Amino acid sequence: MRIDIITLFPEMMETVLSESIIGRAQKKGVLEINCHQLREFAFDKHRHVDDAPYGGGKGMLMMTEPIALCFEDICKNLDEKPYFVYMTPQGNVLNQKKLIDISEKHNNICVLCGHYEGVDQRVIDELVDEEISIGDYVLTGGELPTLVFVDALARMEKGVLSEDECFTKESHYDGLLEYPQYTRPQVWRGREVPQVLLSGHHENVDKWRREQSIINTAKKRPDMIKTADLTDKEKELAQSIIDANDAKE
Ligand code: SAM
Repeated sequence: MRIDIITLFPEMMETVLSESIIGRAQKKGVLEINCHQLREFAFDKHRHVDDAPYGGGKGMLMMTEPIALCFEDICKNLDEKPYFVYMTPQGNVLNQKKLIDISEKHNNICVLCGHYEGVDQRVIDELVDEEISIGDYVLTGGELPTLVFVDALARMEKGVLSEDECFTKESHYDGLLEYPQYTRPQVWRGREVPQVLLSGHHENVDKWRREQSIINTAKKRPDMIKTADLTDKEKELAQSIIDANDAKE
């Protein structure tokens, strides 16, 4: 997978993306991430990429042409046009399903980080394939949302994690939250690790984990139970947890 990021703060992005799992994946060559300084595509000597909005109002807007030139420069080196994403609080709210969908369909992705009041609408109309938000709140810039998006996307790419199970068995991938996990010591401040996890009986461990995953989801995110793929018996279990929680409130 190749990801190109258009930003006013490439150094900040590179610092984060060169660390840990994503950094190692780039060194191994299973992932390519390039950060592009938008100011290199400005035309005046002060390298302005923003201007005041028509109609007045506070703040500045990112101008059309530097973004278009930067995107075209990225496209020059690619066989196909990358899927162009603009991070914005007005976009489709990001979730695991959307990430799976994008990672299955696109191998080249370009992400635009907004700043100030955002970008001129014509850039979105002309170039952007999808607007994505990381949640219903507003940040000062698109860099943190982009890091969230890129990290979540990249970890599903083959070879980034040691096995696919590392992400397919985690919360949200199959519409449920994960089961509780434990490590040593076996007893900590009087709290014991569930016996079944010490039994070495894999079938029983799997059964316990599935059940705990349903209980966890029903307790913490009852809204997810409605769309989860559950057997009739599992639905009954989830409903009993939801009813017990409702009765407590
Ligand atoms: N004026 C814009 C609005 O009201 O919709 C908000 C602009 S925000 C201050 C500046 C930039 O931060 C945006 O262009 C976007 O790139 C980024 N941003 C802020 N919140 C975001 C969010 N929840 N998800 C994705 N990007 C966000």
